[in-house]
Formats: sequence, structure tokens, C-alpha cells
Amino acid sequence: MRIAVINQKGGVAKTTTAANLGAALAQNYGSMPSVPPQSGPASGNAAKMRPNSKKNPKLRLIDLDPQGSLLRYRKSIKGAVFHAPHADELRALLEEDAPSVVDCPPGLDDATRDLLLAHTDIVLIPLQPAYDALIGMVRTIETVEAAQATNPRLSFKVLLTMYRGRPSARQIRDDVQAAYPDNVCKAIIPYSLVFEETAALAQPVLSHAPDSTAARAYLKLAKESLTWQ
Ligand code: ADP
Ligand code: MG
Repeated sequence: MRIAVINQKGGVAKTTTAANLGAALAQNYGSMPSVPPQSGPASGNAAKMRPNSKKNPKLRLIDLDPQGSLLRYRKSIKGAVFHAPHADELRALLEEDAPSVVDCPPGLDDATRDLLLAHTDIVLIPLQPAYDALIGMVRTIETVEAAQATNPRLSFKVLLTMYRGRPSARQIRDDVQAAYPDNVCKAIIPYSLVFEETAALAQPVLSHAPDSTAARAYLKLAKESLTWQ
């Protein structure tokens, strides 16, 4: 399962999501299965959830942001392998179809985006529940739908994040769930000041504040991601 965290906008929690989903997957659920669950008789939920199975390759955390934001978590996220590849290396990495989480910069260039969408299973779109953020989400979904012509495995998930539960945010949540009933993550990431601390320390919230609602939300997302496809 190759997950790419994409949104044209900056500051929408792409890197936070890549780091915390990556940490939750690497630390608590082992690696993601590289083979779709329906493809073999020995697979299934039990096999998918087997923690730290030696048969699974290590999770790859791939940083495409030239600023190296995800790479800052290299020391704090154990059990994952970090990469900051050039285009050719990225193609080779993705073609191996190993469990991966890819963090993208806001202005992803067309060539890299096309390469990524051709070799990705899930585009994870973090969405801050504000009306101006919906435009970026819709544009990202349009590029995913265009790429599905050449990559039929490709799908997308919208992750509500920085969620405060205000009426306007609830309305946006309901609207997005109605528009894309199969594509909205059940996990919702709350707005939390703990992310300021974890971003400054380059630590996943799971190790910095493991009992927080923020940590539980990313754990829930990780668990949910194992059922995708
Ligand atoms: P991007 O990679 O999309 O540019 P970041 O992941 O760097 O965005 O997040 C932008 C800012 O928002 C950072 O300061 C981060 O700590 C903060 N942030 C991310 N998620 C949350 C959240 N759920 N609640 C509060 N602040 C958050
Ligand atoms: Mg970023």
C-alpha cells in the first residue's frame, strides 16, 4: 500500500499527517501489507493486523518536499526507512510497491505528480474544515480521477484535520461525507496545540503525548488505513 499525502495548499497538515500516520503504522501495526488482502487465501484481517510481522518490508517514509520537513522526524520515528529521492529514484521506489507514505510539497510539479499518481494506491488529502480549503480538495480529487484512467488502483481519502467541531466545521464535514461517502476517513484529527510542540521537536504525537486525543486519532487513522482497498 502506497499512500501519498497531497494537497495543493501549504499548512494543511500534510507533513504532520505523513509523520504521525507513519509513526503509528511503524510502531503499532507493523508495516502495511504490500499484497492486497483479497489476493491470497492466507491473507485476511488477522494477517493484515499482525504487528511487526517479519515478513512485511519496513515502512518507507518518502519526503518529496525540498525543505525536508518529513526528514526531520528521522530520529524520532523508529521502524521506518526514510527516503528523499530524485525523480528516477522515486520511480524505482514506487515501482517496488512496498508500504510507503509519501509527503508532498504544496506546489508539486506536474512531472512528479504524474509519476506519483501512476504508482500510488491512495491519495490522502488532509482537509481543514474551512470553505476556502474545499477548492484545493476538489482540485486534488480531479487530478486523482484523471489519473485513474491509467492507474485503476488509485483511489483517494479525505482526512478532516484541525477539526474543532464548530457548527461551520460540522457542516463542511457533513457536506464532504455526503459528496464522497466512500472516501472520507472515519478518523478525524482534532485541532490541538500539541502539534505545535511536536512540530518544533520533530516528534510524532504518539511518542510525545501518547494519551492525547490527537495521538488516538492518528492511531485510528493508521488502523483504518490497513483496511483500504
Ligand atoms: P503542510 O505540510 O501541509 O504544509 P504541516 O503539517 O507542516 O502542513 O502543518 C502546518 C502547521 O499546522 C504546523 O505548525 C503544524 O504543527 C500545525 N498543525 C498540523 N496539524 C494540526 C492539528 N491537528 N491541530 C493544530 N495544529 C496542527
Ligand atoms: Mg509539509
